[in-house]
Amino acid sequence: MRPWSAPAVPDLPGRGGPVQLHGTSTGRLQVAAPGPKARLYVCGITPYDATHLGHAATYLAFDLLQRAWRDAGLQVRYAQNVTDIDDPLLERATRDGVDWRELAASQVELFATDMEALRVLPPDAWVGAVEAIPRIAASVRALLNRGAAYTVEPEPGCEHGDVYADLSADPGFGAVAHLAREQMLALSAERGGDPQRPGKRDPLDPLLWRAARDGEPHWDGGTLGAGRPGWHVECTVIAADDLGSGFDVQGGGSDLAFPHHEMSASHGAVLYGPPFARVYAHAGMVGLDGEKMSKSKGNLVLVSKLRSAGVEPAAIRLAVLAHHYRSDWSWTQAGLDDAVARLVRWRAAVAVGGEDDDAGQLAVLADLRARLREDLDAPGALAVLDAWASTVLAAPGSTGSQGAGGQRADLVADAVDALLGITL
Ligand code: ZN
Repeated sequence: MRPWSAPAVPDLPGRGGPVQLHGTSTGRLQVAAPGPKARLYVCGITPYDATHLGHAATYLAFDLLQRAWRDAGLQVRYAQNVTDIDDPLLERATRDGVDWRELAASQVELFATDMEALRVLPPDAWVGAVEAIPRIAASVRALLNRGAAYTVEPEPGCEHGDVYADLSADPGFGAVAHLAREQMLALSAERGGDPQRPGKRDPLDPLLWRAARDGEPHWDGGTLGAGRPGWHVECTVIAADDLGSGFDVQGGGSDLAFPHHEMSASHGAVLYGPPFARVYAHAGMVGLDGEKMSKSKGNLVLVSKLRSAGVEPAAIRLAVLAHHYRSDWSWTQAGLDDAVARLVRWRAAVAVGGEDDDAGQLAVLADLRARLREDLDAPGALAVLDAWASTVLAAPGSTGSQGAGGQRADLVADAVDALLGITL
């Protein structure tokens, strides 16, 4: 698929240092990429109800990572999928009486428009599940051939049975999220798994290939029969095909750690050898006014709705970046108002805060880099800029267009653009 257009990223003097991320699997800070290449995979959307603030927060978190990596001189390769065939998409299309392909295409388009407006750097490879189906089917056949998968009894009227991964084939299973079996069973039931399905060897075994049912879209799976792929193996194959196995960072929302990333990592370990990814990094969940934001509650805040109400995308971005990416937080009008006020202050300071020797601006750049390379501390970066803006605006004569330094602070503006994706 063709991704959205890339925003310009200004060059900055000097280099940022190595970025550390909190790894879910290790529970500690890890160097996100030893270099010189940095390979990132972030799980993409299932194209319905795009793009709510939870999506935006996740992609903005990994956008900060990509920006910090580039600033550190790394060559970044970023891949993202689009789950353009899956049960929730089909259910929504049926509910709304629309063709699932049209629903997916319109939501993919909306997502891309939102990402572009938010100045998110696009992935180098943006791959839809549908276009990857022949390669996914080949990997499912490979898992069967290795005895790491099995077929359950076909449903009445079906020629072929569904194919499941046999988790006992992976001795390292469970190393991403480190959950107790009871937690895994509960989350599997809650997040799209089917622990109650009869005929499975282990209730946790995830679906690899769903045999065609009447009225459902399906594709040729060779010896698997007609059907469509499971979600976890989709990401395994798309990530490994583009980045190679053992890539640097697998990212996503924290609700993907289990089962999605656990299962993708397990399929990857069996297919290509461990580890599937070096670092697993997860963004927190975003609520609305203290409640969980969810499709079922109907309280999703959509980036497109905010934009059409006239909210500047930079303010949306800044409202998100006011929270550390790993924390769970709530979207509020007050948070958005703060972001708008912050933009006004920063822009006022940039207009007048330039100095002849640039020493103050270079210090701001160094502080921003230091904050961001330590687990993408965006709130810390915002505090650096707030302090700088306060100093500039408190200086005598700074209230007019001719302020303290009297010149535009171009270096600070470039740093905020390159590292935070916000134009001042
Ligand atoms: Zn994924």
